[in-house]
Amino acid sequence: MALETPETLDPDDWEGFRRLAHQAMDDMIDYLRDVDARPVWQPIPPEVKEFLADPAPAQGRPVEDVYRAFREMILPHQMGNIHPRFWGWVIGTGTPVGVLAELLAATMNPNLGGGDHVANYVEHQVLAWFADLFGFPADASGLLVSGGSMANLVGLAVARSARAEHDIRRRGVAAAPQPLTLYASTEVHSCVPKAVELMGLGSDALRLIPVDDRFELPVDRLEQRVTEDVAAGFRPVCVIGTAGTVNTGATDDLDGLADLCERHGMWFHVDGAFGSLAVLAARPPAHLAGLARADSIAFDLHKWMSMPIEVGGVLVKDRNAHRAAFALVPDYLAHQQRGLASGQDWFSDYGIQLTRGFRALKVWMSIMHHGLDRYRRVIQRNLDQTRHLVSLVEGATELELLAPAPLNVVCFRYRGAEQDEGALEALNREILALLAERGVAIPSPTKVDGRFALRVAHVNHRTRDEDFDLLTETVIDLGRQLTGA
Ligand SMILES: *Cc1c(COP(=O)(O)O)cnc(C)c1O
Repeated sequence: MALETPETLDPDDWEGFRRLAHQAMDDMIDYLRDVDARPVWQPIPPEVKEFLADPAPAQGRPVEDVYRAFREMILPHQMGNIHPRFWGWVIGTGTPVGVLAELLAATMNPNLGGGDHVANYVEHQVLAWFADLFGFPADASGLLVSGGSMANLVGLAVARSARAEHDIRRRGVAAAPQPLTLYASTEVHSCVPKAVELMGLGSDALRLIPVDDRFELPVDRLEQRVTEDVAAGFRPVCVIGTAGTVNTGATDDLDGLADLCERHGMWFHVDGAFGSLAVLAARPPAHLAGLARADSIAFDLHKWMSMPIEVGGVLVKDRNAHRAAFALVPDYLAHQQRGLASGQDWFSDYGIQLTRGFRALKVWMSIMHHGLDRYRRVIQRNLDQTRHLVSLVEGATELELLAPAPLNVVCFRYRGAEQDEGALEALNREILALLAERGVAIPSPTKVDGRFALRVAHVNHRTRDEDFDLLTETVIDLGRQLTGA
C-alpha cells in the first residue's frame, strides 16, 4: 500500500510551479526593462479597489490564477517609484539585482536573530563595509533594520540608556532624578519625535531649535538652550544632527555639534537617512566630514543606495552601550558554545526584533555586483542633475526656487505673475495633481517657510537629464494654462 504524502504548503506539481516561476521572472524582467515606456502613475480603477476589499478565500486556487490576478489587478497600479521621473518624498528606485537577491533571500528564509549560520556573517560583513565608509571603527556594532525610522529609534534608545544617570531600563523614564532632554533642529525628520514619544519621554523633551537661513541647526543657539536647560534642572542627553534634511537637503554642522556634545557629555546621534550616502560623492558636502564623530548613525539603503524597500542600518561606536540598551537573554535564547545556538553577537541583542529577515543579502549582492565605484558615479550624477534642475528653475522667470538646494532636494513652485500666497498654493497643488494624473512626473508636496512647494528629492538612478527638462517645461505649461497666461 502506497504511503500517503502528508499535505504541506509546497506545490503539488513542482514542474508546473517551475514553469510559472520562470514565466513570472521573464515578465518581471520585461516589466523593469520597459519601465520608462509607461506613465509614472495612474489612478487605481474602482473595480480594483473593490476586488481588493474581498474577504479571504476559504478555498485556494491554482497559483497560475493568483499570478494572473496579480498581473491584472495589482502590477499595473504601481506607486511609480521605479520610474525615471519619480522624485517624491525620498523613495528609492530599486534594481534588478535587488529583485534577484530578494528571491534568493526568501528561498533560504533564515532568521537573523542569532545563531551560528552564514546569513549572520553576511550582515556583519555589510555593516563593517558601512562602518568603514562612514569612518566608524571596525568594532562598531550595528544592525540592519526596516529603514531610517527604525534606525533612528534604535540609536536614540541607546543614547537614552547610555546617558541617563539611573538604570532606565529597570526604573523607567519617570524615575529620572532630572528629566532627560534631547535636541535637534526644527527640520528634523518626524520619525525622531515619534521615537522620543515612543521611548516615553514625551515630545516636549525634544527641544527643536529654529534653523538658520541655510536650514541648518545653529550650534550657538543650541548651546544656549542646553545651558538654560541644565540651569533649570534638566539632563541634556543627546543631540540629533541631520545629514540631509528631508525638506531641503541641508546638512547640520556635524563637527560643531560633535564638539558641543563633547563639552556637555551628550550623545551625538546623526540621522543620515539619505544624506550620509553623499560620502560617496566626488565632493561630499563639507559638513559631512563630522559624520565620523557621531556616537551613532542612522542610514537608509533603500533610498540613495537603490536597494529594495525595506532596508536601513544603524551603527553605534560603543558596542557595549548598544548591547546594554537591548540585550535580554532568556533561557530559550541562551547562546551556547557549539552548534547552531552558538555565536556571541546575536543581532537580537542589539535591537527590538527577534525574528529578522535576510535583508543583508540584498545589501551584499548589490554592493558585490555594482561595486562602490558605480554607486559613486550614480550618486554624483544625481547631484549634477540636481544642479541642472536648479539652473532650469533659476533660468525660468515663471518658476521660483523656495530654498537653497545644497544636496539633492529642490523646492520650487510655479510663480508666473501671481502674487497672492493663497492663490499660489492652490495653483501649485493643482499642478502637482495634474503632473501625477497625466503620468508625467512625481514630485511631492511640502511647505518651506509656510510656502507650498513642489519638492524633488533625487535618489533616482534611472533619471536622465532630459527628464528634468520635461518636468520644468510641463510645470510651466500647466501654470500658464491654469492662470490663462
Ligand atoms: C526617510 C527619512 C527618514 C525615515 O526613514 P524611513 O526609511 O522612511 O523609515 C528619516 N530621516 C530622514 C532625513 C529621511 O529622509
